[in-house]
Amino acid sequence: SMFADLGLSEWAINTCSELGMKKPTPVQHYCIPKILSGHDVLGLAQTGSGKTAAFALPILHRLAEDPYGVFALVVTPTRELAYQLAEQFRALGSTLHVRCSVVVGGMDMIVQAKTLLQRPHIVISTPGRIRVLLQNNPDIPPVFSRTKFLVLDEADRVLDVGFEEELRVIFQCLPKKRQTLLFSATMTSDLQTLLELSANKAYFYEA
Ligand code: AMP
Repeated sequence: SMFADLGLSEWAINTCSELGMKKPTPVQHYCIPKILSGHDVLGLAQTGSGKTAAFALPILHRLAEDPYGVFALVVTPTRELAYQLAEQFRALGSTLHVRCSVVVGGMDMIVQAKTLLQRPHIVISTPGRIRVLLQNNPDIPPVFSRTKFLVLDEADRVLDVGFEEELRVIFQCLPKKRQTLLFSATMTSDLQTLLELSANKAYFYEA
C-alpha cells in the first residue's frame, strides 16, 4: 500500500515523499486509518518501526482541518525522546506552520508556563514536568480543556509505578472526549487496564 491509500491529505503525502518515506511501515499502515477514524489505538512496536509517524501524521492531518488550543499532548519518558519527537512533528508538519513545544525538566518553569499559555498545537512533555505545571499554576489546566489527543509514547515506561500520580493528574486535566494513543515496546497489565477504559479501541502487534 501507499501513503495515499491511508486517508491522509495531499500535503501529508507530499511531505512523506520529500522526507524519503515512500511506503508506509506496518505500524503506519494499520494505525493511520484507525486513528483518522477516531479509534483509541495501542501499537506494540519498537523504535525504528516508524511508530512516531504512525501517530504524528494522523494528528497533524486532523489538526490541519480544525486547529485550536493545545490539540495534542504527547507524554514520553525522557527529555531526549521528547526532543526527538518534536523534531519529527516539525518535519512532518513543516507545511502547516505547526507550533510544537517541548516541556521537560531542566528548563525554567516560568518560561514553560508562558509557552503553554500561548497554546502551542502540540505539547511534548515528560510526566513529571507536565504534572508540576498542571498542579502549580491554575492557568495551565484550562489550556488543555479541548485537547483532542493524548499520546503515551514508550507507554510501558511511562506507566511505570513511579509515574502513576503524574498520569492521574494528566488524565484529570484532559477532556473525556478525546483519543488516547498508546505506543509501547511491550504489553503490560497497566496498558491492558488503561485500554479497558476505551469503548472504541484497536490494537496493532508487530509480527
Ligand atoms: P521511529 O520508529 O518513529 O523512531 O522512526 C524511525 C525512523 O524511520 C525515523 O527516522 C523516520 O524518519 C523513519 N521512517 C518512518 N516511517 C518511514 C517510512 N514509511 N519509510 C521510511 N522511513 C521511515
